[in-house]
Amino acid sequence: MDSSATDITPGLYIHIPFCKSKCHYCNFYSTTSLSRIDEFLNALSTEMAMYQETFTRFDTIYIGGGTPSLLAVKHFDSILSQIRNAFIVSPNPEITIEINPADTAREYLESLRQLGVNRLNIGVQSFDNTVLAFLKRRHSVHQALDTIETARKAGFENIGIDLIYGVPGQDMISWRDTVTQALSYELAHLSCYQLTIEAGTPLGLRHERGEIVFPNEDLQHAFFITTSETLENAGYVHYEVSSFAKDMSLASQHNQKYWNHTSYLGLGPAAHSFTGHTRWWNHRSLDKYIRDIETGKPPLSASEMLDREQLYLEALFLGLRTKRGIHLHNFSGRYGYDLISEKGDALARLVKAGFIEIKNGCLQPTRTGLAVADTLALI
Ligand code: SF4
Repeated sequence: MDSSATDITPGLYIHIPFCKSKCHYCNFYSTTSLSRIDEFLNALSTEMAMYQETFTRFDTIYIGGGTPSLLAVKHFDSILSQIRNAFIVSPNPEITIEINPADTAREYLESLRQLGVNRLNIGVQSFDNTVLAFLKRRHSVHQALDTIETARKAGFENIGIDLIYGVPGQDMISWRDTVTQALSYELAHLSCYQLTIEAGTPLGLRHERGEIVFPNEDLQHAFFITTSETLENAGYVHYEVSSFAKDMSLASQHNQKYWNHTSYLGLGPAAHSFTGHTRWWNHRSLDKYIRDIETGKPPLSASEMLDREQLYLEALFLGLRTKRGIHLHNFSGRYGYDLISEKGDALARLVKAGFIEIKNGCLQPTRTGLAVADTLALI
């Protein structure tokens, strides 16, 4: 955890709140009313102007959702031009767009590349059609493979994919096959997430009714450890609980800002923002978002000011989810909390149990520690 993290250039996130259909596990905010895209883009442009005083410069832009790839090239052209007009964008920014494998054609991706987009994150989720069907994804394995190849031909070198494990009915053979297939593409980045049960989603409701059984804790742990071992043996850096980079230079610059308390601005429905001590988030409703903006108000759902203790606890939680871990001296300088003198005994127990290591003045989770990262911060 770098003590100067708040001085680092902020990141900009834009939430595109549209999907053609809803995947059964998903709790991200989106609507299937695609007829409102133009209305949303007008509101987004006004919202951008509202933050010109608070944020001046960005060096990462991440357009996520929802399904950004439902937008046309002209929409991205307009969004990126508006960003460059409203803010200073550092030279060589990381510009990522999330892509659904069902929506892509070579000319489309080539045009995005020409607009300055230099990183694609493709929502592959699995290379097993049974798993894709269970999750109600609207693409097939064939389309996912095709999208990866098309992205390469369109000139993208920095390509990442998302994968999900822990799906009901999925066994280790299916998951190993998916990981092996992903490795064969020598992608820059892999995000491997455990499927979580989100209340209120179709999957959550089926789980409540007892219709589906998720893999037990031992199998979930085995999925995590197998993933980490297999990818690290193949040369990837397991740099955050769910994130693997072919090389640290290819780690997501944008996502790292979330984990080291760098400021970020989030625009669009449900997007979150942070300025080093204050966090706010927008309405989880396209209606409310547009209505507020039309009346000249920031479309805020709520905000909170974090006191020193909340900041320190959050930094501990976030830092222990990363391989880089927590730089003890910098942490103490930034949050006023000396972990060694305050938590020395608990840390010694975690070191002895093999969950963390203290190396070069840093507290770093081991692979076993990363598997239980959320509980490590409860020391
Ligand atoms: S997982 Fe992605 S594509 Fe599926 S509903 Fe959620 S945001 Fe939309």
